[in-house]
Amino acid sequence: MPPVAPAVAPSEAWAAYRRRVAGLVEQYRALPAGSPVRLAKRTSNLFRPRASAAGGLDVAAFDGVLSIDPDARTADVQGMTTYEHLVDATLPHGLMPLVVPELRTITLGGALTGLGIESSSWRNGMPHESVLELDVLTGDGRVVTARPDNEHRDLFFGFPNSYGTLGYALRARILLEPVTPWVHLRHLAFGSVAALAGTVREVCATGTHEGEPVAFVDGVWWGPQECTLTLGSWQADPPPVVHSYGGQAIYYRSVRARSEDWLTVRDYLWRWDTDWFWCSRAFGVQRPGVRRLVPPRLLRSDTYWRILAFEQRFGVKGALDRLLGQPEREAVVQDVEVPLERLEAFLEGFAREVPIEPVWLCPLRSRDPGRRWPLYDLDPDALWVNLGFWSSCPLAPGMDPDHHNRWVEAEVDRLGGRKSLYSTSFYDEERFWSLYGGGDYRRLKAAYDPDGRLLDLYQKCVQRR
Ligand SMILES: Cc1cc2nc3c(=O)[nH]c(=O)nc-3n(C[C@H](O)[C@H](O)[C@H](O)COP(=O)(O)OP(=O)(O)OC[C@H]3O[C@@H](n4cnc5c(N)ncnc54)[C@H](O)[C@@H]3O)c2cc1C
Repeated sequence: MPPVAPAVAPSEAWAAYRRRVAGLVEQYRALPAGSPVRLAKRTSNLFRPRASAAGGLDVAAFDGVLSIDPDARTADVQGMTTYEHLVDATLPHGLMPLVVPELRTITLGGALTGLGIESSSWRNGMPHESVLELDVLTGDGRVVTARPDNEHRDLFFGFPNSYGTLGYALRARILLEPVTPWVHLRHLAFGSVAALAGTVREVCATGTHEGEPVAFVDGVWWGPQECTLTLGSWQADPPPVVHSYGGQAIYYRSVRARSEDWLTVRDYLWRWDTDWFWCSRAFGVQRPGVRRLVPPRLLRSDTYWRILAFEQRFGVKGALDRLLGQPEREAVVQDVEVPLERLEAFLEGFAREVPIEPVWLCPLRSRDPGRRWPLYDLDPDALWVNLGFWSSCPLAPGMDPDHHNRWVEAEVDRLGGRKSLYSTSFYDEERFWSLYGGGDYRRLKAAYDPDGRLLDLYQKCVQRR
């Protein structure tokens, strides 16, 4: 097991947290009524273009773990703590959060309010499903602690998928689970989506594959004729070989090249971050000559975000493409969920309509089918598959600039799926609220942000205000 870290001095950390909360409430109340409220965060994984965070609430100090209880397997974590910092604090105790999103700078608060998923989601659901309680700075300037069984229970269950429009998460107590030092990976290759789906169903029902217990499941669709499924198992004994994908080696290529592999648990958790899944190829850093020159500390998703933010601000690439007579392109960056039995139908249409490969696949099931999360209500008895695709497509002359994104949205709807709201959406207001818990949301808005200090969910996610 990894070495056990010395206990944190929780009383000091908690006292500092309370002072910080009081300061933030003052900051919030001092904002002139009617002025827009935003979080001034250093990092973001939101793809929708948004107004600058300049002048927003300064929440930088809310990054850090307050305390860890290794016996109860819980952690009290501030809302702006990045998963990188969270994992750094829990691993020395031989523990990790039940779901660790793939990108290092996703924060706990961002994953709770904007949802998250990873290869443990087939047994642990989404990050909000392992929260025990939550401190929220609400739109009306109060700080409340929401639990599943207290007077703020509706906020507790309505917070996931509210995207900071009911309030901001300042602290959460979350469950942790034990880790082993290594993870054993088996990469299984399939010639059809139907065959992959059959194995996903079997593994998620039994929790084993060919006699070996499985802890993690995710996959990649490389195109209509090829997909891979990666099964991760806990490994306590030293493996024959340990690979690392934080430097020259590129993880997503290894999935096709190897049939099995071993990683340290930390490298496993960040396996997708180094090359932003595969998206770093757009920045040239997968070419060996370039990669050798880039310090490994810069091979991480937030570096690529910074480059992208620069591009979005100044439109350098678009201008260059126009100069060279290249066709206009549409960014198609989406995560969607469909029931496992519709996976094949979705990918069949996707292959025809949206020229993007690869696609990340990740099964997902409710951790506790007795609980409902009204703003992102997935059938708790179904096995879902998340599909992530993050690229761009050429637009034919005369094509609607959102052509492919609109096709994805309509197809997900037709197949009874659900779309994450971190990127562009086009629903009309009536359809949007019927999908994302309009009735519950209106009641929560009236209770926690009656004067509309924060945007509402439709304004934020569809109208991109
Ligand atoms: C290309 C791409 C790939 C992605 N891949 C994955 C993935 O593989 N796995 C995964 O789990 N997720 C993924 N996501 C989604 C990501 O987890 C969500 O967008 C998440 O909300 C980002 O969190 P953040 O901390 O970076 O928050 P930000 O991007 O800064 O903010 C996201 C939203 O949450 C609000 N918010 C932020 N912090 C708080 C808080 N403390 N309280 C209340 N509201 C808050 C913000 O106002 C904003 O509306 C991906 C997103 C993109 C763009």
